[in-house]
Parts: sequence; structure tokens; C-alpha cells
Amino acid sequence: MSDRDGRRVSRHPILRVGNIGIMKNGAVIVGAGHAGVQAAASLREEGFNGSVTLIGDENELPYHKPPLSKAFMKDADAKPQMLRAEAFYTNGHIDLMLGSSVEQIDLSGRRLDLSGDRHIAFDRVILATGSRPRTLALPGSDLAGVLSLRSVADARAIREASAGCEDVVVLGGGFIGLEIAATLALGGRSVVVVEAQDRLLARAAAPVIAAHVRSRLEASGVRLLTNTTIERLEGQSGHVVAAVTSSGERLPAGLVLIGVGVVPNSELAEAAGIAVANGIRVDPQMRSSQPEILAIGDNANYRHWLSGADVRLESVQNATDQARLAARTITGQEDAYRSVPWFWSDIGDMKLQMVGLAAGVDRSVVVGEAAENRFSVFHYLGDRLICIESVNRPADHMLGRKMLAAGFSPNPATLASDDLKAQFAAWQQLQPVEPA
Ligand SMILES: Cc1cc2nc3c(=O)[nH]c(=O)nc-3n(C[C@H](O)[C@H](O)[C@H](O)COP(=O)(O)OP(=O)(O)OC[C@H]3O[C@@H](n4cnc5c(N)ncnc54)[C@H](O)[C@@H]3O)c2cc1C
Repeated sequence: MSDRDGRRVSRHPILRVGNIGIMKNGAVIVGAGHAGVQAAASLREEGFNGSVTLIGDENELPYHKPPLSKAFMKDADAKPQMLRAEAFYTNGHIDLMLGSSVEQIDLSGRRLDLSGDRHIAFDRVILATGSRPRTLALPGSDLAGVLSLRSVADARAIREASAGCEDVVVLGGGFIGLEIAATLALGGRSVVVVEAQDRLLARAAAPVIAAHVRSRLEASGVRLLTNTTIERLEGQSGHVVAAVTSSGERLPAGLVLIGVGVVPNSELAEAAGIAVANGIRVDPQMRSSQPEILAIGDNANYRHWLSGADVRLESVQNATDQARLAARTITGQEDAYRSVPWFWSDIGDMKLQMVGLAAGVDRSVVVGEAAENRFSVFHYLGDRLICIESVNRPADHMLGRKMLAAGFSPNPATLASDDLKAQFAAWQQLQPVEPA
């Protein structure tokens, strides 16, 4: 039997790949997304020789999520990109259970209760359950044609719905909504983005970046309504036909995409009495308040070493780096999480890349030309460089990752004139060599 992308899937609701049948005295990873799959790989790389069970509630072999709002949306024939080939699970002795949901953590019995009245014993659990789209209590939000995007199943539904309609309304001016808005406008749809804040990317990017994104999207035909909310959705025969704004404007819509952020999947932990506050609270080794239960990825909330603030980051970098660290914790190492955060997004002809955290920034310097659609914003807190946001300047981003990891802050006055790479290299020469 094949799925709609031609890949073989199990006839049964549970597809198991791998060859370990005994699930005792081992590590069980809940959630087979970016964080979960990397955790399984890293456990083996770190020499963990107990059983590794990876449980995911989707029926697909684990796949990359970022392309779902990018390449996958552009091409009706695009298939999901697998995170790892099927052989990776078999060869690594990773017992992959798909189509299986973990429903409860029994801490005292040291077992997980799964859908279908199944149970798995554990020594260690890594919760890599990710997040899910935030829903809106909006009249009409249960109409057909009102969709949000997290999984490949959602992406297929959006792709199909958009193929058959002229007018699309996107609720929320965040990365995912804007990526899809740009793609659908390019494909000839009439797209309106409705954002409650006074600008796009309000939680995610500097005003100068948001203004640039706005002007390019508008030039490509996307209509952007800020300071605006949707009061209700209207339907005909059970399908959405319009969205009505707070000012009473009726926007025709055959597809309404809700992209107003995500909420962490932390209920499993919370029900087990594990500390939760906008995600599962973890220490620098990714241990929750119950040390044998670790949490990583979109669902983990931790004190960030760079900003000192409690954060929950939603990025592939955060998910995979925390997974590597969790594997080291389980294999007895005590490293602390010190990765520099980075992120990317593709909106129309703009590759946006961010490195660092912009919280508390008190000075920003723009290098490059917005008119050429190529510029970077260097953010400082006092004299310290804390974040770089780039549009189509990947070299700034890559150098920024190295500079922030090393703790190098170029003089803001020389950013535009100096060769930054040479400045950084000269600084590195002067640094004391760490004892081996
Ligand atoms: C459309 C889209 C585009 C994105 N674009 C970018 C981008 O350009 N750049 C970037 O850095 N990041 C991007 N992200 C964010 C990035 O994909 C996430 O930060 C990353 O997937 C987080 O990894 P995770 O493993 O924590 O969660 P996920 O990858 O979501 O994996 C969690 C998995 O756990 C499963 N699960 C949940 N509960 C249970 C349970 N009880 N039992 C079993 N399984 C369970 C979920 O179904 C899911 O499969 C994007 C996300 C989306 C949805």
C-alpha cells in the first residue's frame, strides 16, 4: 500500500521500523520530529547501548517541517523530505513506532501508557513533543476551508484547498503565514494578511526588517492589514466564503489560514506533576523537574545563557542542538546548553536569517541596501553584539554565528567600512589559547 506521495506505508495503524522488541531499561523518546529523531541519532553516536524507542503519533516517516511552508507549497507534486532514510532506524537499532500516541507518564511505575492500551517501561524519557498551532475562538472557525499548518497532512490540505480558490485570507503576520502568503500571491491568488499588531513579525524581527518585508510583499500583490482583527468567518453550505474584519470589511475567502503562533505540547508532563511554565521547564542539561524525564525542542522552556531570560525557542537549530545535549546528559556528561540560536525563513525573494537574541537591544546598525533587497541589521546591547538579522546576506549570518559563539563584538562604527572577517580573524589571534 502506498501513501499519496507514493511512499510505502503500513496497512496497520502502527508502523514499526527497527529490530528491538524488548523495551526495558532504555531510553524512550516521545515525538518523532526534528528533536526526537536527532536525540535517537545522538544517543547512538554518544555510545548509548540500551534500547532506544522513538514514538511518534504521525503516520509518516519523520520529515523536515520548514519546507512545508516553502518548497512543498510551491509545487503540487513536491513530497515530504525525510529527516533520515528508513535504514537509519534499522541500522541504528532504533525502534520507531509511528501512529502511536503516548497518553500518560506513570512516574512511579516507570512506564508510558500508549494509545491502544499498550505500555512501555523506561529508564529515561525524552519528551520531544513539539508544539501545535494556536487556535482562535472565532465564530465560523469550524467551517471547511479554515486551516492551520503544522504537519505534512495540514500542508497537503492547504495545497489542495488553495489550488481550488481565488481568495485567501491569512490570519497572523508571522513567518509561516507570510511565507505562504508570498507563495500563493506568486501563484496568482488574491491574498490578504490580517495582523492584530501594528506591524508584521512583531515578536520575531526588528521593525526595519518587518517594514522591508511589508513593502516587498505589497509590491508582489499581497494586501496587508495591520492593527486589524477578524470578528467572524462566514460560510455557505459549511464552507468558508468570507472573513469579516474588526472595521466591518468583508474579505472574500475560499481559504482562511490561521497562523497566530503555537502552544507547546506540555500536557503529558503537566499531568505527571512535572514543572511547566510556557513549556516544560528544563535545566541547562535538559532535565525537567523529574530528572529522569528530559524535554527538548519546541516544548522546552529554559533560562537562556545569552539573555538570562526564560525562553522557549521554535527552531530547527534549537531542537537539534538540545537533542544532542540531552543525549550527552543521558550518557553521563554534564555539558550545559550554550548554543547560539539561529533561524531562517524564506518569504518570496527574501532569505531572512537571524542569529542571536535581540531582547533588550539598545542600538542597531544597518549594513547594506534595503533598496537592493540585501542588508543586515547588527543589534547591540551596550558594546556587546547580541543579534544579527539579515536579508539575502548569508555571509553576514554565517560570520555572525561564529562571532557570537566566540563572544566577539565588532566596533559598530566600523561595520560598514571594515572587512569584518579580517577584523574577527585579528581578534581571534589575540585570544588566549585554552589549555587542552
Ligand atoms: C510549516 C513550518 C515551517 C517552519 N519553518 C522553519 C524555518 O524556516 N526555520 C526554522 O528554524 N524552523 C522552522 N519551523 C519550526 C521547526 O520546524 C520547529 O521548531 C521544529 O520542528 C521543532 O522540533 P520538535 O521536534 O520540537 O517538534 P516537531 O518537529 O513538531 O516534532 C514533534 C512531534 O511529536 C509528535 N507528538 C506530539 N505529542 C505526542 C505524543 N503524545 N505521542 C507521540 N507523538 C507526539 C508530534 O505530532 C510531532 O510529530 C517551521 C515549522 C513549521 C510547522
